[in-house]
Amino acid sequence: RSGKNCVQYYSDADEDVSSHRLDVEKNMRKAAMDSCDEFEIYYQPIIDVTKENNPCCGAEALIRWNSPELGFIAPDDFIPLAEYLGLINPIGDFVLLQAAKRCKYWNDMGHPNYKVNVNLSVVQLLQSDIVKKVQDVLEETRINPKNLTLEVTESLAINDMGRMKSILGQIRELGVRVALDDFGTGYSSLNHIREIPLDIIKIDRCFIKNLTKDDFSDAFVQMVHELAKALDLKICVEGVETDEQYELLKKMNIEMIQGFYFGKPVKVEEFEKQYVE
Ligand code: C2E
Ligand code: CA
Ligand code: CA
Repeated sequence: RSGKNCVQYYSDADEDVSSHRLDVEKNMRKAAMDSCDEFEIYYQPIIDVTKENNPCCGAEALIRWNSPELGFIAPDDFIPLAEYLGLINPIGDFVLLQAAKRCKYWNDMGHPNYKVNVNLSVVQLLQSDIVKKVQDVLEETRINPKNLTLEVTESLAINDMGRMKSILGQIRELGVRVALDDFGTGYSSLNHIREIPLDIIKIDRCFIKNLTKDDFSDAFVQMVHELAKALDLKICVEGVETDEQYELLKKMNIEMIQGFYFGKPVKVEEFEKQYVE
């Protein structure tokens, strides 16, 4: 694959890496084809800062993989491979259905406005039947569509912007909300905010890390917030860890906040003990 006219050295270390990868691949295939029992969804609270006492207004669903053979694996360590192997589709279907079911349960338990956010990789988004899949989940779970938010990133949007726009447009027509995740990183362009049918912008946590420390981050958050207001979009800020960050964001009138300051992603039982019961 590297082309002709080059020399590459072989080492045992490479062998270990690729055999580990094969191992992960084999186990992931099995887990994904096998009812997804090894995957578990954690929930991280999202806080509404516009209301007094900053109540929880929902959660982001974040997947974990408990592999009996490989141990506990964080999403950053397996989602990219799952995307490459196409396994993100069955895994993602599982997350979407479970999370929507759970949110409907919260709604029925006295929190009719709690929302759940589900991450959709671009691979999932570009499936030919994605709109139908979302529609089926709405019908099966009977969740109020406005309580389901799909988080997408810009990463591949530029490849096929027309298709992406049409799919997200159809999803929004179902009443489901769309959030642009990790805004400000990767292939970000302010133009995407105008082009992509959207409801919420999630500002990436790298800007929050430097909030109150460097002027650029403060100005960036403020600028995106102004733009969002003008376009009637809501802002959710991720990665809030400290009191200073929280105070500043509140002063800026940011609508939604997510971060370790309020709560880490936790198992569903834990989330419900704290925020539902
Ligand atoms: P993401 O969508 O940007 O999710 C937020 C990540 O930031 C989560 O990592 C969360 O635990 C972490 N986080 C939240 N608050 C804080 C904070 O205050 N400080 C710090 N340092 N980190 C914070 P996690 O759960 O490891 O997920 C990593 C990424 O994996 C996610 O990033 C998302 O891109 C992907 N991912 C997770 N679940 C799914 C899924 O079901 N489907 C897809 N396609 N991707 C997923
Ligand atoms: Ca996300
Ligand atoms: Ca994010």
